[in-house]
Amino acid sequence: MPDATVEIEGTRIAAFYAGRHPRAIDLGNMALIPGLVNAHTHLEFSQLRAPLEPASPFTDWIRAIMKSRFETEQPVTERIQLGITECLSSGTTLVGEIATSVESLRLFNMESQVPRAVVFRECLGFTPDRIAGQEQVADEFLAEPLAPAAVERLCPGLSPHAPYSVHPDLYLNLVQQARDQGVPAAVHLGETAAEYDLLERKSGAFVDLLSELGLWDPKILKDGMRMTDYLAPLAELPAALAVHGNYFGPTEWEFLRGAPSISVVYCPRTHHYFGHSEHPWLSMIGQGINVALGTDSRASNPDLSLWSELQFLRERYPQLATALILECGTLAGARALGYSDDTGSLEAGKAADLALIQLPDDFDGGTDTDLLLDSRSYVARVMLNGQWIN
Ligand SMILES: [Zn+2]
Repeated sequence: MPDATVEIEGTRIAAFYAGRHPRAIDLGNMALIPGLVNAHTHLEFSQLRAPLEPASPFTDWIRAIMKSRFETEQPVTERIQLGITECLSSGTTLVGEIATSVESLRLFNMESQVPRAVVFRECLGFTPDRIAGQEQVADEFLAEPLAPAAVERLCPGLSPHAPYSVHPDLYLNLVQQARDQGVPAAVHLGETAAEYDLLERKSGAFVDLLSELGLWDPKILKDGMRMTDYLAPLAELPAALAVHGNYFGPTEWEFLRGAPSISVVYCPRTHHYFGHSEHPWLSMIGQGINVALGTDSRASNPDLSLWSELQFLRERYPQLATALILECGTLAGARALGYSDDTGSLEAGKAADLALIQLPDDFDGGTDTDLLLDSRSYVARVMLNGQWIN
C-alpha cells in the first residue's frame, strides 16, 4: 500500500494526499482508514455473551429475545455503555442504534467519547391504545433536547419495528412524524420469507406467533399492502434504512432504484447466523442501490465489530475488490445515516474520525491492498474528532 499523509487540524481532516510529508508522524506497518460505520445495531443487548438460540425458525428466536428482555436484570444504561465501548474499540465512529427507551439517546447526548450516532426510537404495537401510546413516545423522543456539543454528531430518528410487529396505521403515522420532523427512520424489512407469507397470504409463522400473543386478527393488516408499500413512504424522508432486505427481489429493487434516500443495511454475520439464503447485496450495489453494513445485536452476533464483518465478507467473497467491501462499511454507511458530508471517507473538511489497522508482518508494502482485510489484521487505534481515544 502506498504512503499517504493525513493532515489533521483540530477535529477535522485538513488535507489528505499521496506521499509522505517530511514532518509527518510515521505510523509504521499500519493502514489508516475512515472510522467504520455500523449502520444497524441494538446496543441494549450488548451484555449477551453469545447469540440467543435457536437461530431457526426465526419466530422461535423472536420468542427467545422477548424472554431475554424480560429476564435481564442489568440496568439498560450499563448494557448500552458496554456496546458503545465495544463499538469504539473495534473502530466504529458512527452508529445506527435502535433504542427501546430514551436512555440510549441520553448516553450519546451526554458522553463526550462516543461515536456519532443516529438513535432510532423503536415503536411497535397493534391495538388502538398501544398505537396512541407509541405515537406519544415517538413525539417525546424527538423532543428530547440535545446538548450543544452533541448537535453535530447526534440525531434522533424513529424505527417502526417491522411489518409483523407494527400496525400499518402506526407504521404510516410514525413515518409521517419522521417526515414532519425531518429525521431518518429505520425499519426491519424483508428479513425472512415468512414476512412475505404474512403480507401476501396472511398465513405462516408470524400468524402463529401473533396468535400466541393474542394479537392476531386478519384485519390488523391492510389488504393489498405489500413490501413496496412499506418502502414507499420511506422515500419521502431525508434518509431511511430498510434493514436486512434479505428476501428483497426484483420488485423491491426496482422501487429502490428510484428512491435514492433509502439504503439497505446488510448484516453479514447475523444473516449467516440465521442461515438465510444468499443475500442479494452485490446485485443491489450493481443496480446503484446504497448498501450499508451492520452487526445487528449480540443476540444474533458474537460481537459488535464492524471490522469483523468486513473480514467475514473478505473471506466469503475473495473475488471482490477490497475497496468495495471497505466502502460498504464506511461511506455507504455514512450516506445511509445522513452523515456523508461529515464522515465516511478521508477527505479534507470531514471529521478526523479514523481507524488505524495493524497489518500482518509479511505485508510487502506494495500496492496490493488484499492484506488489509486479512484475518490477522486488526483495529489497533481509533481517532475520534482528531483525538486518539486508545
Ligand atoms: Zn435489528
